[in-house]
Amino acid sequence: MHKCIICSRIIFLVLFLPSFWLTIIAQTSDYLWPTDASTAMTSSFCEFRPRHYHAAIDIKTWNRTGYRIFAIQDGYIMRVRVSAFGYGKAVYLKLKDGNIVVYAHLQRFMPALETYVDKIRQSQEQYSVDLHLTPNQFPIRKGQVLGYTGRTGIGVPHLHFEIRNPQSKPINPLQFYSDKITDTISPQLYELALIPQEYSTLINFIQDTLFVNLQLRSNVTLLDTIQISGKVGLALKSWDRANGATNLFSFYRANMWIDDSLVYSVQYDLFSYANTELIELDKNFSLWRKQIGIFHNFYRYPDNRLPHYLNTPDGGGFLDTKELRDGIHHLKIKLFDFWNNPAELDFYFRSGKPAQLSYDLNKIVDNNLFLRIQSTKKLANIAIFKTKNPDSWSAIPLSDKPAVLDYKENFYYSFSIPVDTSSNDEYMIQGTDSTGMHTFPLFIYPEESSSRQINNQGFSVRKREFKRNWISLVADVYQNNPTTFLNGLKRQINNLFWFPRGSHDYQLNIPIQEIISNPDLLKSVMGPSIDDLKFCDGSKDFTLYSQDSLYAARFKPNSLYNQSIVYTSLLDTAAEMYAVRPPYRRVGNIYDLQPFDEPIKDGVQVSLEAPDFYHNLKGLGLYYWDFKKGWLFIPSQIDSSISKFSATVTSLEKFTLIQDTIPPIIASLQQAPGAHISSQSGKISFTLKDEMSGIQREYQIVVRVNGQWHLFDYDPEEDTISLTLSNQEMSQAQLQIEAVDNVGNRTRQNFVIN
Ligand SMILES: [Zn+2]
Repeated sequence: MHKCIICSRIIFLVLFLPSFWLTIIAQTSDYLWPTDASTAMTSSFCEFRPRHYHAAIDIKTWNRTGYRIFAIQDGYIMRVRVSAFGYGKAVYLKLKDGNIVVYAHLQRFMPALETYVDKIRQSQEQYSVDLHLTPNQFPIRKGQVLGYTGRTGIGVPHLHFEIRNPQSKPINPLQFYSDKITDTISPQLYELALIPQEYSTLINFIQDTLFVNLQLRSNVTLLDTIQISGKVGLALKSWDRANGATNLFSFYRANMWIDDSLVYSVQYDLFSYANTELIELDKNFSLWRKQIGIFHNFYRYPDNRLPHYLNTPDGGGFLDTKELRDGIHHLKIKLFDFWNNPAELDFYFRSGKPAQLSYDLNKIVDNNLFLRIQSTKKLANIAIFKTKNPDSWSAIPLSDKPAVLDYKENFYYSFSIPVDTSSNDEYMIQGTDSTGMHTFPLFIYPEESSSRQINNQGFSVRKREFKRNWISLVADVYQNNPTTFLNGLKRQINNLFWFPRGSHDYQLNIPIQEIISNPDLLKSVMGPSIDDLKFCDGSKDFTLYSQDSLYAARFKPNSLYNQSIVYTSLLDTAAEMYAVRPPYRRVGNIYDLQPFDEPIKDGVQVSLEAPDFYHNLKGLGLYYWDFKKGWLFIPSQIDSSISKFSATVTSLEKFTLIQDTIPPIIASLQQAPGAHISSQSGKISFTLKDEMSGIQREYQIVVRVNGQWHLFDYDPEEDTISLTLSNQEMSQAQLQIEAVDNVGNRTRQNFVIN
């Protein structure tokens, strides 16, 4: 039967498809499609999941369960797992060619296997099992039904279909099925992000990440030339669809060129479970954590050992002024889905260092403002603007052609402009160098306009931000000559990088090493709001402590991928957002470990102690804050002598201790607890719910029928327990369900069946 179908399809393909497809089909037509549910994909290989890659393709089962799954080739069942979490019920088929197929989230296995597994579960009195089988236990023929699709473990009903190579590395299943799925739709480009990488990086003269909306097109040319100075990383949000399904996938491969030379390329064919967490370097972890979206990084950090990057060198893909000649460059990105449908983005950018302007003459004589400005680069032209309102600058002509003086690599320009001495006008001067790069603007407040208000300090920090390895301060500078003032500051703080953002508005960036080596400076930038701040440079162990000394976060040399500032502070416990609803109660402070958007390599050990006055440890546990779900339980080691809770975490979070003394609630779906229940089919269900600490392991639930441990199914997403009783049990039985939550609150319910 199957043979006939395959033969007819091959004949069809030979007749109608171009020859380029034939080579692919010749290699791939050997495997059978794994299910009769559909040939529609709902997730693609290597899609982003928190801290791992999606290792399979997911196949649509129309929100239903019970479709057949088939052996795609001869082989034997090598492993079978049952769990209420993760893969749920999963079967591992070892193929005769050495590859391994994993079918997950099944409703049930084929009858002989289901019986075998249940017998072991019953005899071991265990819900979850992970059984490794020998080749002669369940030999399998191609096309044989192995089980039925379901929704066990995580997610809505679907089939998770994974193929691993003989070394157990997941490979892209589509390579065997390119003829099965129709896809003529190009990937769509959603948003571009240009991200500053260093303390002196600028994009269009400011340091913020530049986002460009690409409006879901597949072919985008940006009209504006983007100005880049320093090192910039490019990240792109895109998605892909296939015909006949609304699901969004990630792309299959992509290339990036600067001036026609390939600087970055990526292709998803395989990965290893040993380093799947490196996805946090492949996709932009920071933008994901800030809920801006899943962006793909078109650059490669040196620690990124993933196999996807073909010829991209370590550190490749960055746009770096140091490595590019000054002037205009062309950047092009091409994305492809598995069927070679393309999407393309291209734009021009100008690379170079903008010159700084300053002045040493600023004098009004006879309604003319005489200026002598100095530039660190030779200028091709000078433009002058005036305003009363910083948002509307209007160009004004020079009274005469500037006189130019070139002295020791500095360039001096003297000129005058007509001014109205009765007004409060400000002036902005901006030059352009020979490559077309603009200079920073220079703001001038005529020295003889007497009505100007200058505050006493002349300098106030409006905003402070901790970046990966620098601190940025946005300041109002009310000085007659801000440039001279800031250059004076630069003589006190080495490596200070400052630039104007607008009239009186300046940004000052200071590398963290500079700050760490200067305790006074460190104190002033930390301010009273931060308990402890250190620089994690990967060279040593260190610990951050809270001021109340009840909380510590220990970093090891391998805790982070990148060198980064890390710091901790107390959160306002009165904040409505973090409130714990009675009868649960928060014990002690909330500790905020930052930067929350920094990817973690090997983990950070956090520990919290309950305050001295708190002696009742019953139901106490460690929790972190999830912006969607609220406070979530973290399994921890407990040192009860000092009421200390410790855990190794893989993301920087807000932590606290919460007391939960409420046991799980069990209720019959049919009737009230303790009542008589009956069922015609032999299948009965209960709800099992536990708020706050929750239930994380299957052994925390036990079902007994007439005193004997009994098999059941637990769906933690639906909060249900279901079990099937024999005819004899249905006629007369005592049923007991017992559940204990993550902090030891226990509940037990008895039911009588007759
Ligand atoms: Zn899946």
